[in-house]
Amino acid sequence: MSAHSPAPGDMLEPVRHHLRHRDPAYDFDVGPGWRQLLLECHQAVVAEFPDYELHAAKQKFASLAFQASPRPWKHGVDWTDAESDRFHAVIQVFVDRSTVTCERCGAAGSLRESRRIHLVLCDGCETLVPEHGRL
Ligand SMILES: [Zn+2]
Repeated sequence: MSAHSPAPGDMLEPVRHHLRHRDPAYDFDVGPGWRQLLLECHQAVVAEFPDYELHAAKQKFASLAFQASPRPWKHGVDWTDAESDRFHAVIQVFVDRSTVTCERCGAAGSLRESRRIHLVLCDGCETLVPEHGRL
């Protein structure tokens, strides 16, 4: 194992274990309001696909992008269309939730198009997040 020890309380450590490329410095590119959502997505996926492989998890076009495979890609795709459909259906639930969840605080939010980068924010966070959109 690596010498990396995660910060105490890093709720996303279990998610990190499924990363295809285990870079200890990698952090998921989602705002603080979506970290619980990302964890719940992982928990739902891992319950049905214990060996799933995660390529990246990030905010893309104002929704959660959970880029993953049902199993590690070894000598090609070895999952069925039905498995793939189910895998994506499990993830889609959380993608849908991300579109109504404030990425900054986790409260109910909606799509905000006032910035160059589109974000899902609640009314309070909409007034706090600057134009560059960094949460
Ligand atoms: Zn908020």
